[in-house]
Amino acid sequence: MPNATTGEPVCTFCGKTHREVARLIAGPGVYICDGCIGICNSILGDEKYQDASGGWRGWTIMDNDELLATLPGVLRSTETIREGLQARVDELRQRKVSWARIGTALGMSRQAAWERFA
Ligand SMILES: [Zn+2]
Repeated sequence: MPNATTGEPVCTFCGKTHREVARLIAGPGVYICDGCIGICNSILGDEKYQDASGGWRGWTIMDNDELLATLPGVLRSTETIREGLQARVDELRQRKVSWARIGTALGMSRQAAWERFA
């Protein structure tokens, strides 16, 4: 999601701009930088984050301070994704796409789409 002020794409996870990182990869409404991918890889490779079957144990093994420290990033990511969704709906409305079609695409009624995004 581009920065709301500068319009530059920024990493959804750490907030760095494309100029501050070596690579910035785009996903559906999100970006991730090479640095955050490195952190993800180290977490995925760390056995303490894996259960007996190799599944990810995630935040259940974090202590309270570690878990609390993740909240700002999760909130920022959530807001970034929400803004990206709203921007796409706004673009569709500028193109005169109906609320019914937008609602159908989102798996909700026309009324629910309008109430949420208008
Ligand atoms: Zn990042």
